[in-house]
Amino acid sequence: MKQKYERPTIRKMNTGFMNKFGTRTDFDPVSEIDGISVKSLVKQYGSPVFVLSEKRIRKNYQAAVRSFKTRYPKVQFAWSYKTNYLNAVCKIFHQEGSWAEVVSGFEYHKALGNGVAGNQIIFNGPDKKEADLVLAIENHSLIHIDHFDELYQIIRICEQINKKAKVAVRVNFDTGVYPIWDRFGFNYENGHVWTAINKIVTSGNLELVGLHCHIGTFMLSTSAYSVAATKLCDLAMRCKNELQTAIQYLDLGGGFPSTNTLKGAYLPGVDTVPSVEEFAEAITNTILNFSFSTDELPLLILESGRVLIDDAGYLIGSVLANKRLSDGRRATIVDFGINILFTSNWYDHKISVAKEAGQYTEETVLFGPLCMNIDVVRESINLPLLESGDHLIVHKVGAYNMTQWMQFINMRPSVVLIDQKGQSHQIRTPETLEYLEMMELLPDHLK
Ligand SMILES: *Cc1c(COP(=O)(O)O)cnc(C)c1O
Repeated sequence: MKQKYERPTIRKMNTGFMNKFGTRTDFDPVSEIDGISVKSLVKQYGSPVFVLSEKRIRKNYQAAVRSFKTRYPKVQFAWSYKTNYLNAVCKIFHQEGSWAEVVSGFEYHKALGNGVAGNQIIFNGPDKKEADLVLAIENHSLIHIDHFDELYQIIRICEQINKKAKVAVRVNFDTGVYPIWDRFGFNYENGHVWTAINKIVTSGNLELVGLHCHIGTFMLSTSAYSVAATKLCDLAMRCKNELQTAIQYLDLGGGFPSTNTLKGAYLPGVDTVPSVEEFAEAITNTILNFSFSTDELPLLILESGRVLIDDAGYLIGSVLANKRLSDGRRATIVDFGINILFTSNWYDHKISVAKEAGQYTEETVLFGPLCMNIDVVRESINLPLLESGDHLIVHKVGAYNMTQWMQFINMRPSVVLIDQKGQSHQIRTPETLEYLEMMELLPDHLK
C-alpha cells in the first residue's frame, strides 16, 4: 500500500523517560477491562461506549466502609445519586447496604423506584418541590433543610397534613479551605444555623434528628474535615445541653477526591490525594475526642460520590483521523467529545491505547468530534502514533459524566456493566433519533 505523505517536522523524542518510580508505564496498552477485550466490547456495543466495573465499585465501597467502621462503631453510607444515577449502579450500592442521598424530586423518585425505604433516603438540595416535601414527610425521609424559606414551608406543610417531619440542618462554615462553600445551608459563624435549630426545636412538629454538611468536592485537605466535624459536634453538644435535644446523626457529606489528576497539577493524583483511610482517621478522631458518652455517640453518615465510582468507569473510543496543525503539532480526532466527558474540564484523564504500539510517542492534541472549537479532550498528551480505527481508553470517568453528559449533534452512547463473573450487560442503550424526537411536537401549519 502506498504510504500517505506527511510534511516532515522535528519533534523531541519522549521515549522511555523516567519519573520518580523509574520508567513510565502510562503508555502500556490496555487491551481488556475486567477480562473482556476492548475490541469485543466495541464490536458488541459500538464506539464510543462507557464501561463500568461492578467488581471495582463493590471493592471501593467495601474498603470505604471498612475504613470508617474499624475506627468508629456506627457508620452509614448514602449513595450520592447525582454522581451516577443509572439504576444498575444505584442498585449495586443499595445491595451493599448504602442508603440514598438525593438532591431533587426527580432523584427522590428514582430512589423510591429503586426500592429504597423512605426512612433511608436523605433529601438534600435547595429546590425541593412542595409535592415532593409532602411525600418525603409521609415517607419519614430525612429532609436536610437548606434555607429559612424551606424551614417555614415545612412547618406549614406539617401543620396542614398533621404529620411530623424528620429534619436535619445543612450547615456551612469556614474549614480553612477557600472559597468557603457558603451558598448551601445555614452559616455557622454568623449564628444563622443556631437560629434555625432553635426554630426547629420549638416548632413542635419538626423533629431535629441530624446535622449535615458537605464542605466541597475533590477536597485535598483532611484537616478541613476535622474542622467540620468539630463544628458539627459543637452544635450537637449545644443541642443536648441547651435544648435537651439529642442529635441522632452527624452527616459529613461527600467530597473525598478520586485519584484523577487535576488540570495543572504537578504530580499525578494517584501519588498525591489523601486516601479514604486518612479522611476516616481525621473525622472519627475528632468525634471520639468529643465527650459523647458511648451510648450517645451519633451515627456517622457519609455521602461519598466520586471516590467510590470514578475509577470503576472507562470510556472506550476510536480514532477518527490524524492531522498536523499549522504549528506542526500532531492532532488526533476521536469519536468522543467533551459533551459526554464533562470531567475533561477539570481533569487530565489518563488515556491508554488498546493495542501494542511502538515506543515512539509524540505530544498530541486530542480533539473530540464536535463542531466546536472548545471540544478538546486533552490539550497535550504523549501518545504513540495511532491510526484511524484504533481504540483509546479514558480512565476514571465513572463519576458525574453519565449524569452531566449533554446530547449534542450525536446520540449519547451505550453504558455497559461488567459483572463480577466477567459478563457484560448493557445498562443503558445508545440513544436513537426516535428517542430524541419523542418530546418534540410539530404545529399543524408546519406539518
Ligand atoms: C454532590 C454531593 C455529594 C457527593 O459529593 P462527592 O464530591 O462526589 O463525594 C454529597 N452530598 C451532597 C449534598 C452533594 O451535593
